[in-house]
Amino acid sequence: MEVLAIRGGGATAEIEWPIWPRSSSETLKAVAGVLESGRWALSGQWRGSTSREQEFARRFAEYNEVAHCVPTANGTSALTIAFEGLGVGAGDEVLVPGLTWVASASSVLNVNAVPVLVDVDPATLCASAEAIEAAITSRTTAISVVHLYSAVTDMDAVLEVADRHGLPVVEDCAQAHGARWRGRRVGSLGRVGAFSMQQTKLLAAGEGGAATTDDPELADRLFQLRADGRSLADGPRVFDQVELSDRSSVMGSNYCMPESSAAILLAQLTTLEQENEVRDVNAVRLADALERVPGVMPIRPPSAVTDRAYYQFAVSIDRDAFAGRPLEQIRRALEAELDFPVSRSYPPLNDNPLYQPHNKRRYRLSEEHARQIDPRRFDLPEAERAFARVLILHHRVLLAGAEAMTVVSEAFSRVQRLADQIPG
Ligand SMILES: *Cc1c(COP(=O)(O)O)cnc(C)c1O
Repeated sequence: MEVLAIRGGGATAEIEWPIWPRSSSETLKAVAGVLESGRWALSGQWRGSTSREQEFARRFAEYNEVAHCVPTANGTSALTIAFEGLGVGAGDEVLVPGLTWVASASSVLNVNAVPVLVDVDPATLCASAEAIEAAITSRTTAISVVHLYSAVTDMDAVLEVADRHGLPVVEDCAQAHGARWRGRRVGSLGRVGAFSMQQTKLLAAGEGGAATTDDPELADRLFQLRADGRSLADGPRVFDQVELSDRSSVMGSNYCMPESSAAILLAQLTTLEQENEVRDVNAVRLADALERVPGVMPIRPPSAVTDRAYYQFAVSIDRDAFAGRPLEQIRRALEAELDFPVSRSYPPLNDNPLYQPHNKRRYRLSEEHARQIDPRRFDLPEAERAFARVLILHHRVLLAGAEAMTVVSEAFSRVQRLADQIPG
């Protein structure tokens, strides 16, 4: 008799899963070069050549087909300076999808603004343009969208709503490096793009981030906002002198990316395009195979996504086809079968243990503000439905060979067929 792995049968998978992030001799050399250079930070002394940070800024702007890029310490700080750079401040409302990583909303709190949570489109799990429009008030100052898992937000619809209301759009691209919407790179469609280069992301430095924009004045503010208000010095550089000058038009904080991270990213950026292609080919294979399993619906990027970037491979599960078992039990059975982590989707931000702004003293600007930021006041039925149905696999699964995609779909098929065996 066939027995599920979680019941002591053998796992479906005998695969050595790729690890992520991946290092290379180039990455190692790049970091060693920084250590030996005597320049470890943008805020350090000039040692005769362009900082890695500014070199990465140039290359990442080029990659994203935008005029300007400002590297940051992480994705959260990229979002924070994006909002601050757009003039968002105390009491302003910023629309944020209710299904995302907590930083999409906590970055809004960082500028004393109010994250207004909007529901998602079940087909993409990204913010729905209708929900965005319905949430706009006279206090709305920006719309923030997240290109989640492997989808891109419907930018046609969102930009149309934003233009009609005269609101800037921030694209949270932390999960979408390299994706294109109708031929245009994400991060170049809204006023600002914000990227994370935390170690799980498609482009990884350990910790890191970047903000992108075509607007030169905004780019100048973003530069200062992340460098304690400092700018790059005008005129010739002087050896051993600090390259940043105290010329300032806006007060900032220190959210600078270290030279070592910039060096890692310069090396990693050379493989991103090819890795995205491998992931895409495997993702299509996997989605095609999974679609034949009863009760399993892969969430495919919309057809307007002309270059796809898979941060997570997401599938929607119909429990009825799995003997009615709770999603958590199905998840555990799959994990045992694959010997690979299978995760739930994010809990909606109106009921997420990581998102408790109303309990944080720092944000208690007034009783009224505390009420405004309380996430429990928002209704997010589609985000809740997604949390009850969606399972995700990290993109490194898509860097395995083609045969591994067959194994993954077999694991889903086995758990579905033998769902009666799943322990309660
Ligand atoms: C990872 C992530 C962030 C935050 O990036 P950090 O580098 O961890 O600060 C923001 N938004 C989304 C959607 C993310 O996935």
